Amino acid sequence: MTQVQDNIRGKVAIVTGASSGLGESTVRHLAARGAKVVLAARRTDRLEKLVAEIRQAGGQAIAVATDVSKRADLEKLAAATVEAFGRIDVLVNNAGVMPLSPIEKLKVDEWDRTIDVNIKGVLYGIAAVLPRMKAQGSGHIVNIASIAGLKVFTPIGTVYSATKYAVRAISEGLRVEVGNSGVRVTIVSPGAVESELKLGSSDPETAASVNAFYDANQIPADSVARAVVYAVVQPAEVDLNQVVLRPVSQEF
Ligand code: NDP
Repeated sequence: MTQVQDNIRGKVAIVTGASSGLGESTVRHLAARGAKVVLAARRTDRLEKLVAEIRQAGGQAIAVATDVSKRADLEKLAAATVEAFGRIDVLVNNAGVMPLSPIEKLKVDEWDRTIDVNIKGVLYGIAAVLPRMKAQGSGHIVNIASIAGLKVFTPIGTVYSATKYAVRAISEGLRVEVGNSGVRVTIVSPGAVESELKLGSSDPETAASVNAFYDANQIPADSVARAVVYAVVQPAEVDLNQVVLRPVSQEF
C-alpha cells in the first residue's frame, strides 16, 4: 500500500485546462498527494490564484499561459516544466470545450474550435511531452475523453462526440505505439460532471436542455480527479487503460 501511495509523490504533472472544473480539481488532488504541478490554461489569473494556494499549503506549482490550439504554446509549456522541475512525468490532457447544437444549425466556427481544442490540443500535448518521456523511459499521458466518446451524443453533440471518439482512438493508438517504452496511456471517460463546460452552447434551445440534463445528473468534479489520481498512483508496470464513470442517475 505504501509503495502505491509513494508512486505519486514528487512526480511532475502538467494539467491542461487547470483554470476550472475537472482540471482545477485534478491539480488540487495531485498537489495534495505530493506531485509538483504545472497549471496550463488561458485564464492565468485563476491559475496564479491556485498556484498561490498550493504553495501556501507547502506544495510546488507553477502556472503557464497556454492555448492548447497553438502547438507552440504546448512546446513552451513543456520547456517551462523542464526548466522549473527538471522532468515531465505526467500530462493530463484535460482542456476541452463543448459548444453543442444540431449539425443543421451549421455552427461551423464552433465545430472548428471544438476540433482545435479537443483533438489538436490533445495531439499537440502528446507531441510536446512524448520524446522526453520516451527518453526518460517513463511517463504517463492521461487523456480526458467522455461518455460522448462511447455513444454519439445525438442530436446536439455529434461534433463534440466526434472529437471525443478521436481522443479515444488517439489514446488507444498511442498506447500500442509506445509499447514497452515505459510510457503509460490512460483514457478517462466521464459522464455529467459539474463544471463550466455545460455553459458553452450558444444555441438557446440546446443550452436549456443541456442545463436541465446537468441539473438532474451532475456529480462533483473531484469524482474525475480521484480517477486520475488512481491511474497515476499505480505501480510503474501497471497501466490503467480506461476509466468510465457516470453519475448513478445518468442513463446516456
Ligand atoms: P470547464 O469548462 O470547467 O473547463 C475547461 C477548461 O479547459 C478550462 O480550464 C479552460 O481554461 C480550458 N480550455 C478551454 N479552451 C482552451 C484552450 N484553447 N487552451 C487552453 N485551455 C483551454 O470544463 P470541464 O472541467 O468539465 O472540462 C474538462 C474536460 O473534461 C474537457 O475535455 C471536457 O470535454 C471533459 N469532460 C467534461 C465532462 C463534464 O460533464 N463536465 C464530461 C466528460 C468530459 P481557459 O478558458 O482558462 O483557457
